[in-house]
Amino acid sequence: MTRVRTRFAPSPTGRLHLGHVFAAQVAHQLAREAGGEFLLSHEDIDAARVREEYYGYIEEDLRWLSLAWDDEPLRQTSRTDAYDKALETLRHRGLAYPCFCTRKEIRDEWARMGAAPQGPEGTLYPGICRALPAAEREVKIRSGQPHAWRLDAGLAAAATGTLSFHDLRYGMIPVDPHLLGDVVLARKDIGSAYHLAVVVDDAFQEITHVTRGEDLLSSTHVHRLLQSLLGLPEPTYLHHRLIVDESGKRLAKRNDALAIATLRDRGFSPADVVALLAEPQPHFACEADSIRSAAGKITPDGPGA
Ligand SMILES: [Zn+2]
Repeated sequence: MTRVRTRFAPSPTGRLHLGHVFAAQVAHQLAREAGGEFLLSHEDIDAARVREEYYGYIEEDLRWLSLAWDDEPLRQTSRTDAYDKALETLRHRGLAYPCFCTRKEIRDEWARMGAAPQGPEGTLYPGICRALPAAEREVKIRSGQPHAWRLDAGLAAAATGTLSFHDLRYGMIPVDPHLLGDVVLARKDIGSAYHLAVVVDDAFQEITHVTRGEDLLSSTHVHRLLQSLLGLPEPTYLHHRLIVDESGKRLAKRNDALAIATLRDRGFSPADVVALLAEPQPHFACEADSIRSAAGKITPDGPGA
């Protein structure tokens, strides 16, 4: 049987907070309980937002919480050749097309359509560049016009046929290849993009179980599609619940009160932090009411929940 391998993939753009710790804990627990491996991957392709010191802070916080990882942490910035190669494969199969659109052109097209097509994460790309003749694409690319690369979801769906993925919490989910439309495979500004990078890296790290927040459930439809197109192994998924603040919003970098560093400075022990995650209604006495109320909606939802 294949050894279980999971990963935690934070972005070094801020300090870890309780939401991250929960995600790391779910991945760590799933791996450790199966006698498998837990890996760390820094999602740092968006270099403009990354700050060098956060790599160290992330690793320091994880060590403090005894969420030790195996192997060297992976950095996406060291993997751009692999992303380029994957994109090349999709281009050669005619499944990716260059998109020269500016934000304004996309907005104008939505206005022209009367109503912008909607997906679970917002408006969808209206497909302007999909039908651009090959010769015109060539000219634009040769003239150095900045462009992204998009997946042609329709052609991709035709190429893969029916797909599904298995989630430990949700069961078998049929893939809707059109859910997020023609997603960006390589951004205009940085030359790579989240969906393709994560799929390529999960295969490279031999991740058997991809654990992450349920806010990424719709992305998994695209990821399963890309795995199939690129001939990559199909991992099992676990989309866990999110840690939310008192207003029900997903914790973000701005929730400084729930940053691990802040909690540690206030005298919380690693066990105290883990207890905050495990208590649906924390009765944990702490000096900061904001922490207690912010953690009030936390519900445990680890593997096997
Ligand atoms: Zn376009």
